[in-house]
Amino acid sequence: MEHLRAAPADSRPATPKTKVPVTVLGATGVVGQRFVRRLADHPDFELAHLCASPRSAGKAYAEACDWRLDGEAYAGFGGKVLLPCDPAMAASPVVFSALDTDAARELEPLFAAAGCLVFSNASAFRMEADVPLLIPELNADHLGLLELQRRLRGWKGGIVTNPNCTTAVLLGALGPLHRAYGAREVSAVSMQALSGAGYPGVPSLDAMANVIPYIKGEEDKVETEARKILGRLDGGRILEAPIAISAQCNRVPVLEGHTIAVNLRFGTQPTMAELEAALASFVPDTAGLGLHTAPTSFVRVRHEADRPQPRRDVEEGGGMELQVGRLRPCPVFGAKLVVLGHNTERGAAGASVLNAELALARGFVR
Ligand code: NAP
Repeated sequence: MEHLRAAPADSRPATPKTKVPVTVLGATGVVGQRFVRRLADHPDFELAHLCASPRSAGKAYAEACDWRLDGEAYAGFGGKVLLPCDPAMAASPVVFSALDTDAARELEPLFAAAGCLVFSNASAFRMEADVPLLIPELNADHLGLLELQRRLRGWKGGIVTNPNCTTAVLLGALGPLHRAYGAREVSAVSMQALSGAGYPGVPSLDAMANVIPYIKGEEDKVETEARKILGRLDGGRILEAPIAISAQCNRVPVLEGHTIAVNLRFGTQPTMAELEAALASFVPDTAGLGLHTAPTSFVRVRHEADRPQPRRDVEEGGGMELQVGRLRPCPVFGAKLVVLGHNTERGAAGASVLNAELALARGFVR
């Protein structure tokens, strides 16, 4: 019964763990600030370098960046001098990228070639066949694509991506339900927060008291990325999940949190009780790994008639928990529900940090 024996009274604390140095690219932006706040006190990672555009490089973080988050301003890094996004000056074993897509397409491969493992929020490489597009709870095995990527591209490091924020929220419901019952057709109508458009984003005169029924490129991302994430890794390539997805994306005057009304058709229609049980009993791929950023539950089922709501519920689980409500029969598709998630945490910074924790746990960080 060795494991039951009490620790000796004079036992000393374990030797402090050596943290992995990390770099944040795009540290001044909406997502970059969330990276900085999340990483300021992370048990595995230590912020080594903050980088931004040539406009900001050389300035102190507090001078170049308008801090827009709660808590300590600049997370204590206000005096840190920003570097350019150049691996010769700012390489680390782990690099988090909150760059705009065009900058990401040019700069992320330079860091990957220099031996860094880049965790990217940008869409530039998400749909490349050798690039993992991860939600660790749903497709942790897709990280295995990194070996193919390193072979094909000759990089010592690599690029791992997280999905578009709306895809990340949709999969909080669709992922567990597809795994249990095989979804065939999905209709998703999003109500997306203003923060998803970066800062300053949508002009207030357009956004206030209004709905804008168009977000450039968003519907295509939701329709394609979800199929890759739910696909099967087979012989070094992803066989996409055979689900027809139709997305309609709308910008609404909400600060944080994307809400999506979802209709689902399955091969054989499960009962509502079976669907609820599939969500409530879902066991994520990350179970037992002890990942710091993983929420206690990947998805929570709510029973109140009027929840989840972004203003009241979006911060649950540090912004990493996804919430499903209003699960009910649909006379056309079979089932319908509402899912809510934090677009700049579960859909951006928190997602990347969770990906990096998974890669570290699986031995991919050199
Ligand atoms: P943002 O607020 O506009 O920030 C962009 C960042 O990129 C800034 O730090 C900017 O630095 C830097 N940058 C721009 N051009 C650069 C260049 N040529 N070289 C180096 N750095 C450059 O954007 P965001 O909303 O944080 O989004 C960042 C990325 O995450 C985008 O790819 C976006 O699509 C993705 N994403 C965003 C969300 C969301 O909800 N907002 C969700 C998921 C994914 P300066 O300050 O110096 O200009």
